[in-house]
Amino acid sequence: MAVTSRDNVIEVTKQVINEVVAPLAKEIDQKRRFPKEAFETFASNGLLGLLVPEEFGGLGGTLQDLAEVTELLATSCGSTAMCFQMHSVGTAVIASRANDVHKENYLKQIAQGKKIGTLAFSESGTGSHFYIPEIKANLKDDCYVLNGKKSFVTNGEHADFLIVLTNSVLEKKLDMIIVDTNLPGVDFKGTWEGIGFSGNNSIALEMNDVMVPETNVIGSGGEGMDLIFEVIAPTFIIGVAGANVGLARGAYNAALEHAKNRRYTDGRSLAEIQAIQFYLSDMYGAVESASLFNKSAAQAAVEGKEGAVLNVMQSKIVACDTAQKVTNIAMQVCGGYGYTKNLSVERFLRDARAGSVMGPTTEVLKEWVGKSVAGIPLF
Ligand SMILES: Cc1cc2nc3c(=O)[nH]c(=O)nc-3n(C[C@H](O)[C@H](O)[C@H](O)COP(=O)(O)OP(=O)(O)OC[C@H]3O[C@@H](n4cnc5c(N)ncnc54)[C@H](O)[C@@H]3O)c2cc1C
Repeated sequence: MAVTSRDNVIEVTKQVINEVVAPLAKEIDQKRRFPKEAFETFASNGLLGLLVPEEFGGLGGTLQDLAEVTELLATSCGSTAMCFQMHSVGTAVIASRANDVHKENYLKQIAQGKKIGTLAFSESGTGSHFYIPEIKANLKDDCYVLNGKKSFVTNGEHADFLIVLTNSVLEKKLDMIIVDTNLPGVDFKGTWEGIGFSGNNSIALEMNDVMVPETNVIGSGGEGMDLIFEVIAPTFIIGVAGANVGLARGAYNAALEHAKNRRYTDGRSLAEIQAIQFYLSDMYGAVESASLFNKSAAQAAVEGKEGAVLNVMQSKIVACDTAQKVTNIAMQVCGGYGYTKNLSVERFLRDARAGSVMGPTTEVLKEWVGKSVAGIPLF
């Protein structure tokens, strides 16, 4: 089924999950491979263009749609959700300032399912403080020349384009530049060895004299910091929060199912034990609260409500805490079985460990939220 408009995004997402994402989730985790079947389906049914404006053939989706889609995907497969999420952030930032080249070469092609993107922001030297990169673009003729290394590039060589964050040729400014991965000098290194999100293929990138047309800069040049706060931060935070709520929901669903079906010799099920009922209540409440909080933060951001930024920042803190808490409780509910690979709870628990250390990390966000409520400037 193809997505024909924003109205059937959720229906189609659920169908892809039932037919493709859920059946392959265990295999993608165990073989540590990219969720290529899911991406082929997103390409053919239009979902890759979720955040591409309708005028370029996309679905014109909003942060609310992203929150819902990443939550649904991660409820079955965290790796698929994370790969889709990084592609969507890359799409959103191009859409925010697209020139004619960007419209033809990226937005229309993403909507047609021909291009997958991602972000190349992190560097080993900058870590959590990704907004102060070390690499610098140089101008030569009509091209930016890029040299340097990036780390944790989700989607890796499966991406067709990268949004590279770099120091601008303008003094004390940043730029985001769209870099095609098939350009000479773009080289991915290594394999993803993380304990979770095993299929997200978040690997290192080396750029050696990569020549990128000047037109591939996003915005008018030097707008990188504005783009981080206007576009990247809300899109990244809401989508990652959605994914973390999904991981919590996936673990809760698995634990509930196990609690209802696991029977002792006296015929009682695990779910009939009061301590387990308390855990079920804790998980249910935490998942529903985090889900509602994220969707309401997304809605407030879309509607431009006062205080929306604060709730967006807080939403990732809440969702990542919830994912870690709920996956732990789920494992307790499932006992020794939960600790094995027979149940999906251990996968959700491993996946849930990533969100709080993905920049902006929980500590950095707490500092920003704390400063904001106290009326202290962030920088
Ligand atoms: C699964 C996964 C996928 C990823 N995908 C991408 C991607 O697609 N693109 C990309 O660019 N990056 C990606 N990243 C990178 C991610 O954003 C970084 O891991 C993150 O920025 C943290 O950097 P670091 O590991 O160097 O941590 P560090 O900077 O070394 O931080 C270590 C700890 O110290 C804390 N800390 C650091 N500074 C402060 C401070 N000033 N105040 C309080 N606490 C502080 C941090 O919060 C953290 O807990 C991914 C990471 C993971 C795990």
